Amino acid sequence: MIEPQAQDRGIRMTFPRSDMPYYIHADRTRVKQILLNLLSNAIKYNSEQGTVEVTCAESTPGRLRISIKDTGAGLNPEDLEQLFQPFNRLGQEAGGEEGTGIGLVVTRRLVELMGGEVGVESSIGVGSVFWFELVMVAKPAPAEEENAIEGEDTVAVSRPPQVSLEARLHTVLYVEDNPANLRLVEQIMARHPGICLLTAVNAYGGIEIARNKQPDVILMDINLPDISGIEALKILRSDPATAHIPVIAVSANSMPADINRGLKAGFFRYISKPIKVDGFMAALNLALESAEKNSAKDTQQANVS
Ligand code: MN
Repeated sequence: MIEPQAQDRGIRMTFPRSDMPYYIHADRTRVKQILLNLLSNAIKYNSEQGTVEVTCAESTPGRLRISIKDTGAGLNPEDLEQLFQPFNRLGQEAGGEEGTGIGLVVTRRLVELMGGEVGVESSIGVGSVFWFELVMVAKPAPAEEENAIEGEDTVAVSRPPQVSLEARLHTVLYVEDNPANLRLVEQIMARHPGICLLTAVNAYGGIEIARNKQPDVILMDINLPDISGIEALKILRSDPATAHIPVIAVSANSMPADINRGLKAGFFRYISKPIKVDGFMAALNLALESAEKNSAKDTQQANVS
């Protein structure tokens, strides 16, 4: 999934040989997100023609450590402290990479929610090693193992029983070019620690984040600077990676004809601006529940096939 990103920057990646499989007890989707986040950072903040080396080993008995080592500029101790703080994305001041500033914060929360730990070691001019550890389990029973192993993954992951909605961390992507609306939704979300908000200020940026970060729900403005929210919805629907994600329209175009057109286009709900908190949260909760049901269905289907 990240190979094209690495190739763009001439970065060579190496992965562990899978002669001996390890098993961890974790949510497969979340582990994938964590790995993608750390790998994409290792590419983004690497030097041109650098390398990314992924290793995997039992660090202490019963704990598996996955390490992602880059050959970037390295981080000084102050940066390391800031790294896992919300809204303190490194390099953000420089206006370099487009992003959301919360990737590592989410990563840490996800790892910790699964009973693990995350950390980083770095030396200036040499590079950084980001690692996370999760609890290892014995080899699962054959039936379970079959659907736990996917492709050539070294780490075989089995899905834990469904946890309650409140205990899970949800990711919501808001695509919006109006700073006042962005701020309002950020404030609303800040009151819900279980929800992690990603944002994009145009449609194509939003689509890219949706593909890479797999949010549970997307909130989509209609009038965006590049293409309309309706066009963006079509693109999301036509891509298997994002087709399943419920998308809520959030728009000032709130004549009945606008709303009908939006719902016909396939939006999960249509919210009119100015945003009213109660109605907004009600629609968001419904969409999160629907996303949860979809992923439960996917799991069942995977078990049958
Ligand atoms: Mn707009």
